[in-house]
Amino acid sequence: SIKPSSGVANDMHSGSDWDKAEFVLEELRRQCDTPADLLYRLVEDMVEEMKAGLAKEGGSKDYKMILTYVDKLPSGKERGHFYALDLGGTNFRVLRVSFGQDGSTPVFQEVSIPQEIMLGQHEELFDYIAGKLAEFVSKEDSSYHPRPGCKRELGFTFSFPIKQTSIDSGELIKWTKGFAVEGTAGKDVVQALNEAMERRGLDMVVTALVNDTVGTLAVASLAASKADAGDEVMISVILGTGTNACYVESIDAIPKWKGPKPSSGNMIISMEWGGFSSSLLPRTQYDEALDAVSVNPGEQIFEKLLSGMYLGDIVRRVLLRLAEEAALFGPSVPPNLLIPCILGTPHVSCMHQDKSSDLQEVGRILSNVLGIHETSLELRKLVVEVCSIIAKRAARLAGAGIVGILRKIGRDRSKHDGSSSHRTVVAMDGGLYEHYPLFRAEMKAAVVELLGSEVAENVLIELSKDGSGIGAALLAAAHSKYSRYGW
Ligand code: BGC
Ligand code: MG
Repeated sequence: SIKPSSGVANDMHSGSDWDKAEFVLEELRRQCDTPADLLYRLVEDMVEEMKAGLAKEGGSKDYKMILTYVDKLPSGKERGHFYALDLGGTNFRVLRVSFGQDGSTPVFQEVSIPQEIMLGQHEELFDYIAGKLAEFVSKEDSSYHPRPGCKRELGFTFSFPIKQTSIDSGELIKWTKGFAVEGTAGKDVVQALNEAMERRGLDMVVTALVNDTVGTLAVASLAASKADAGDEVMISVILGTGTNACYVESIDAIPKWKGPKPSSGNMIISMEWGGFSSSLLPRTQYDEALDAVSVNPGEQIFEKLLSGMYLGDIVRRVLLRLAEEAALFGPSVPPNLLIPCILGTPHVSCMHQDKSSDLQEVGRILSNVLGIHETSLELRKLVVEVCSIIAKRAARLAGAGIVGILRKIGRDRSKHDGSSSHRTVVAMDGGLYEHYPLFRAEMKAAVVELLGSEVAENVLIELSKDGSGIGAALLAAAHSKYSRYGW
């Protein structure tokens, strides 16, 4: 029971209806429940959708199963100076990496994207980005100038659903993650960036267009081949502002691929798993309300249950209902609870993981962020429980997603029945995964629960940082137009 047993705390003004609160919480627990049998059914659904999406263009309404045109992973022989632009969330990063030179560390610059650009016009966005790239380049010394007749080469990490048409071209299908730039959907984003760079007089050209999951896979895979332990990086997952996964698929399992058979026999597929929308997904009224007011209603249903952009707001919506219907936070609804996205996933993570006996952090966030002062311990405990229910559902769904891919590529079985004897690595990145240990633990526990501990022992789920940018530079190097032997 969540009902306070004794004593009247500050928030327990006469109007608080703890019975109602208990009802709301119980309903939430039930609706967000993700028992193993439900997750297994979701895994089956996922595998079916994956197959449908690989069979033909538009074959799955959920998974785009994007052909990335990356059919081999970096060899470690890449040479030269390359750039990357990593655009995917509220910040973007520009970087330069020099491959093949001992001790050269990448140079980064992080730039935030103003809201008016995220919701603005097509050319403005690309002009803004090209401007920042030009600024970055103007600070370099002459040792980074390309040879005459060559241009600087850029790996463009563009972490939105793309219909890719070659390693260096692809059209935006739709924006996600709060972007709503007008005029970009249906256009080739590489061409848009190349044109903007030309307008700026910048001697740079896009050589590889990659999703953040693909960059992460490339970097993790190179690291694993250097470590030489025989581990195979087959999957990469981003759990950040948005969420997605890519994996190494056998070309024979991709009927919609009409090109020549790559020598590796494989191609990386970017699933766009955020689009999963099975009716089996455990959704609540809070999720539906959040979706309805989002910039992309009805889309990215899985992503909206899972990713960093949304978890905080789901929690806020539950608290709002508790305020409105159970008057838990005083006789009137605290005005801040009405502000969309005021509560971020970092707040949820912080409250959920508050280890102090009197839940000081929870009190601090309720007060500083939501303007709810002087709460009782009981109330703070209840807030922690809401965070825990929402985070656990998200983590277990992410775990099911990973198991879905493992099943699709036959790595969900133990070695004895003929699958690879190498350990399978799942490379993870994104703030939600990196900065939320309890989330990570729940996700891994779900994977073990679904696979069984013997199989799970051969699946390594590992953080692989900063791959989205560096991986794009690596792929640019691997597909270089000018510098086969580096400069
Ligand atoms: C995008 C994906 C991306 C993921 C993680 C999603 O919203 O659609 O392309 O990989 O976020 O950044
Ligand atoms: Mg990113």
